[in-house]
Order: sequence, then structure tokens, then C-alpha cells
Amino acid sequence: MNKKSKVYIVGAGPGSSQLISVRGLQILQQADCILYDRLIGKELLSFIPQEAELVYVGKEHTEHGPKQENINRLIIEKANTHKTVVRLKGGDPMIFGRATEELKCLSDNNIDFEIIPGITAASAAAAYAGVVLTDRNTASAVTFVRGQTAEGKDVEDIDFDGLVKLNGTIVFYMTVKNMNKICQRLMSAGLLPGITAVVVADASLPGQKIVKGTVSDIAGKCAQKNIVPPAVMIIGKTYFSWFEKLPLFGKRVLITRDKTGNADFASKLAARGAEVVEYPAFKIEDLTDTGEFKEIFKRLADFDWVFFTSATGVRLFFEAAARLNRDARIFAGTKVACIGVQTAQSLEDFGIKADFIPAVYTTKELAEGFIKEHSPAGKKILLLRSAVATSQLEEKLRSVKAEVKQVSVYTARKLKNDTTELSKQLKDGSIDWIAFASSFAVDCFFADFSAQDINKGTKTASIGPATTETLKKFGITPTSGAAEHTIDGLIEAMEKVK
Ligand code: SAH
Repeated sequence: MNKKSKVYIVGAGPGSSQLISVRGLQILQQADCILYDRLIGKELLSFIPQEAELVYVGKEHTEHGPKQENINRLIIEKANTHKTVVRLKGGDPMIFGRATEELKCLSDNNIDFEIIPGITAASAAAAYAGVVLTDRNTASAVTFVRGQTAEGKDVEDIDFDGLVKLNGTIVFYMTVKNMNKICQRLMSAGLLPGITAVVVADASLPGQKIVKGTVSDIAGKCAQKNIVPPAVMIIGKTYFSWFEKLPLFGKRVLITRDKTGNADFASKLAARGAEVVEYPAFKIEDLTDTGEFKEIFKRLADFDWVFFTSATGVRLFFEAAARLNRDARIFAGTKVACIGVQTAQSLEDFGIKADFIPAVYTTKELAEGFIKEHSPAGKKILLLRSAVATSQLEEKLRSVKAEVKQVSVYTARKLKNDTTELSKQLKDGSIDWIAFASSFAVDCFFADFSAQDINKGTKTASIGPATTETLKKFGITPTSGAAEHTIDGLIEAMEKVK
């Protein structure tokens, strides 16, 4: 065995990548092998070094063998071949995480290990539902209980009388399947039917749902709201709701950008209390590996101005620059214009302060505002954009005799999605808002659905005039349009409508 190797048992937190500990993240960034579970936030995996080996040890992986034994064997195997092995586990590793088996195996095999705590589902759910888990007057104890076991054991061996006698807060993990039975048992053991029970599903994730009721009606409410695992049920006495007061709480918002764009949009919406339904309508394809891009990259200094019209373009450009061993200094003699604050922020992240941002963040304003301020006749301008962008910018700049060259940094392609489930939801009115952040997203979305497929009560939000025009083409007049043409502006447009 490689003596220097170490296994880190890391608690990933309940789902949101923001809820891992600083120590956990540091170790993740140094890992050369990561064994991860089913309930790990996908965003966390983006922090892992590219060359690290990523091993999924969730349910599917171990279906054909004794599950835990396979995982234990894999951990030992990886500790023998790698230096920093991370066993990334959902929530806190020491709570309903089969830590005993894995730690015993590491001890038996004389492998060094460190345990890094994580935020357990009960803590996350309590925070979002505003339940005080212990209170010096009303709850001197909190008990974590499992509502079922992997071996199919039910609730028979739970001491409900003992639980109720403790007179504290009770949190049930793995609770969805047996919720009704659990509540009946608690009441039979003497818990008053009117005691508050709250269920939090997908705590900390954009799809988070909070259902509040009493011990007597919570199971029915959850069934009605289609609550599925992972979820915890908290039976407590002291509540201070705050999440429910967020401006978009209770609203289901369908988002239609690409996967990366959706992730950013989703976390902003979740922070406003919305429940997010993601539909990646298209995908982004990097074009910085093409001969055309590489050629122009060498000649950047020939241009007076370079234009960026999206944060995606900026990111892909600078990633390509890094691969070519260059940095922001390539713009030393060239001015940079961009379409709006989001693109400007992205440029700043790479060390560039934009020389021109229009007052209104649209392509039209970028062209017209720039022409007014910088009289571009005879100037050499390079547009680094998406291959699916309209020709408006190019045409307007050419019309005033600028020398314009357009090079595609990326393109967007429609994704083929399974539409069955979303079709149902669009029809039954369970989606409150559909948000469109680009004209291209509208085109892709309406290649899959039509205006008639959407329930009359569902509202639509548009990021700007071009997107609104495209929506109208498909028979939709948006309920609300962003005043500032950014994702934040789009969110505000939805918040404005009561
Ligand atoms: N070690 C984990 C628990 C793993 S057992 C922890 O400390 O949180 C799996 C159970 O945890 C699920 O059935 C559910 O009850 C709970 N759980 C995990 N993630 C959750 C989430 N994001 N929201 C609500 N409950 C969650």
C-alpha cells in the first residue's frame, strides 16, 4: 500500500454546492480520485481537478452485488493507487451515511483517513423552513430518526412512545414512503394531532419544496403535492418563516437556457424562493478550436475594437486564451466593447474593464450608442460572438463605414429533449412562469411545444425586445418584460407581477 495516501470522508452538504465546508472544498480541489454518491450536488463536481478520477458509487453502480461491500472494496483499491482519495457523501457523513462500514474497512486496512463534517439534511431543512430545532423552553432535545431502511425494514422497530415522551423536536429522514404510517404511530403514542409538521424536499436545491401542515394532515398534503424523496419531515414547535416570504416563493418557474446558463439562473431564482423547473432548450458548442478562431486570435492587435455580446463568449474566449498561454495583455492595444453589465462583469473577472457599454443592453443600442459615441468610420472592429447571432450589429456598423470582421466563438444547437413530462405540466397549469432569456431559446422551445400546449394561467417573461418579437411570432405576448435586459432584470420582471 502507498503509505502516503489518505482517504477523506467528506460531507458534501444537502445538495447546493454552496453548502459544503471550506475544508471540504479545499480537499475536493486537491483530490486525485473522488468516489461520490447519488445525492451529491452536480455543481460540486465542477470544482474537481480535470485529471482526477471520478467514480460514481450510487445505487446503479452497485446493483449487481452487495452494495456496501463493493464500495468498501473500491475505496481500498483507490487508496492503493491514488494519493488523495475523497469519499464524498451527501449531507454529513456520520448521519445515516453508512459511515461505520466504510470507516471500519479503512481502519482494518490501516489506511489513514480524515473525516470532514457536512451540513446534514435536518439542519438545512430546519433553516429553510425556519424551525428552531431546540429551544430552551419548548424543546430540550432533537431526535433524528430514519423512516425506512435499505433492507426494507419498516417503522416497526421505532420506539414511538419513547420519541413522543422526549417532548422535543423529531426529524424523520427517508420519510416519504412511510409518512402516513409514521404520523399515525406518533398520534397513537400520544402526540397531539394539531402539532405542526413540515416537510422539506430537495432542501437547498432549486427544486426545493416546503409543505407545512399538522401531524394529522401532512401526509395527505405531501401526496397531493407529489412530494418525492429526498425529503425530511420535521415535527417541531417553534417556527420563524422567512423563506415563504421571498418574492417568488411558491412559484414554479420553467427556465429554457442552456445547461450552464440554466444553473446560474436557477440559483438566482432559488434565492428568491422560486421552485425551478429546468428545460435546457439548447446547448453551447465551443468554436475556439477552429482554424478561423486561432488565426484571428494571433491578429487581435490589428483591430481597434473587439466586441463581446455575451458572458458565454467572454468565458470561452479567455479559456481558449489560457490554453494558448496568453492572458488579458492581448488587449493592451485594443479597446473592448460589450453589450451589458453581465458581459462587462465577465470581462472584469478576466481583468478587462470594458471601454464601452450601451445605456440599454440590446444589440440595437450597442450599435447605435457606439456609433454615436465613437464615430467608427474606417475603424477595424472584430465581433466575437455566437454563430446564431443576428446580423444587425454587423450591418449597422458597416453602414457607417466601419471595417467589420465577425468570428464565431461558439454556436448554439437545439437539444432534443423528452417532452412528455413537461407537456403534462404545461397543460395542467402547474408551471406559473416560463422565462425566456434569448430569442434563440424561444425558437428552440417552440420547436418542441406550441402556444396551445400552454395553460392559459401560465405567465411568460421576456428578457428584451428581440426575445419578445420572437415570442410574438409564436403567438405569445409576454406577461412581463425585463426593464434591464439581464437575468436579474428578467427575475425582477416576474417579481413585479402579483
Ligand atoms: N448523510 C445524509 C443523509 C443520507 S440518508 C445527511 O446527513 O443529510 C438520505 C436521506 O437524507 C433522504 O432520504 C432524505 O431524508 C435526506 N436528504 C438528503 N438530502 C436531502 C435534501 N436535499 N432535502 C431533504 N432531505 C434530504
